[in-house]
Parts: sequence; C-alpha cells; structure tokens
Amino acid sequence: MIILNEKHYVEHILSEGTLAPSCTHTFLRLYARYLYHEKKLQKNEIVQKLDSFLEHSEPHYQKENWAAPLEQYAAKASTYPLCKCDGVWMTDCELQTILALHDKVLERLAFTLLCLAKFRDFKNPKNDHWISNSNGEIYSIACINTTAFEKDNKLHLLKELGLIAFAKKVDNLNIRILFVEETGKKELFVSDFRKLGYEWRLYKGEKYIRCTACGILAKNTNGKRKYCVECSKRIDLQKAKERMKKIRNL
Ligand SMILES: [Zn+2]
Repeated sequence: MIILNEKHYVEHILSEGTLAPSCTHTFLRLYARYLYHEKKLQKNEIVQKLDSFLEHSEPHYQKENWAAPLEQYAAKASTYPLCKCDGVWMTDCELQTILALHDKVLERLAFTLLCLAKFRDFKNPKNDHWISNSNGEIYSIACINTTAFEKDNKLHLLKELGLIAFAKKVDNLNIRILFVEETGKKELFVSDFRKLGYEWRLYKGEKYIRCTACGILAKNTNGKRKYCVECSKRIDLQKAKERMKKIRNL
C-alpha cells in the first residue's frame, strides 16, 4: 500500500483504534517513526507505546512474539521523518498524452506510472521521474488484472510509444516516465493512491463513489452506493451484532 501522508495515516489509525491484520507491520513501522519525529520520544518509550497499541488492538496479542520486531522498529525510527504529501497534480499536457493512447488499459497503466513518478519526485526532488515499484504493485493499483506476459507486453508498448524508458542494467527493474510536463496547467489533483486505475476512470466520467467510511473509490453502477464492499460487509455485520444484542436483552 502506498501512503502519501504518513502522519495523517498514523493519526487516523490511532483515532479508529482498529487495523487490518495485513497492515499491522506497516503501521507499527510508521507509528515508531511518528513517535520519534512528531512526539520526540526515546527508544524505550516508543517500544512501550507500540506494545500498548497492540495490547489494545490485537485480540490474541502475545508480548513475547512481538518483542523483537518492536525493538527493531523503535531502533530504526530515527532514519527518515514521515512523508507528508497531500497529493500530486497532473497537468493538462500529461493528461492529453494519456488520453491520446485511446486504449482503456494502457491509459490506466500510463496514468498510474505518472502518479507514481510524481510522488517519487515529491519525496526526492532529484529523482527525475524514476520509479522502482514491482510490476505486481503497479498493476494492482492500476486496477488491471492480466497475465505476467501481458504485464511485460503493455510496458513494452508504452516504451515503443516513447512514454517510458527502462534502466539499462539487466538486474534493475526501474522505469523512467518520459511524459512528465510540469509546465502545463494543473488539471487533476490525486490524493489517494490506493486505486489509481479507478481515479483515472472517474476522471473520464465513469460512475464511481468515494466510500463514506474509508474514502476508497468503488464502482457505483446503481447510483445508490455509499460504501465499498469491505466497509458495507463490516457495517452489516455490526448491525447484525447489535440486533442480536437487543434480542438477547429482551
Ligand atoms: Zn470503505
């Protein structure tokens, strides 16, 4: 998962008090850096805070299993300050280049690569539009489901069209985006990198909503949707639990 504003992310999780199991390690790593850089805590205090977070949020928390990773996160907390990027702008020239592809899948791929390059440039102004994400990650956030062969094929197509270049070294998978044009008019601000493929579809006028609970983009085919699939499942379950509680209390 690509998190643009790490400070906001940490504060959001802390206020919610819950965390998807798949995000636990990512969160703890960021929380350690948050406590070091934002709250000026020392290593032992950081370990205590991480430990207390897990104690409250993990139903089967066992201290001894977590001691080593928590020590490690606290020890590395000082390395980088948190990234505080609210989003990145795409210019009209860049979007025109993508629209000219006239291919839904290639457009989503090119848009995703552009967003990733702009974010990397934000983090490191000397980056010069390079990205180093894996093919799997790129295609996942581009919301494109295809074979490994097609994944390589589509990237090669963009290369043939002069939109991207590959690093020269054989063992290096880095890609450089060649159609960044910062001088154009700012046209689209992208502040959520979870589903960049859907951000592109929304830009093109397709029906999508931002989930009222978690803000992720979700298809809105019937025009009535409020929540993404995951949140609506969670909310339905919560409602069912409340109904059960009422019945039992009668
Ligand atoms: Zn949601």
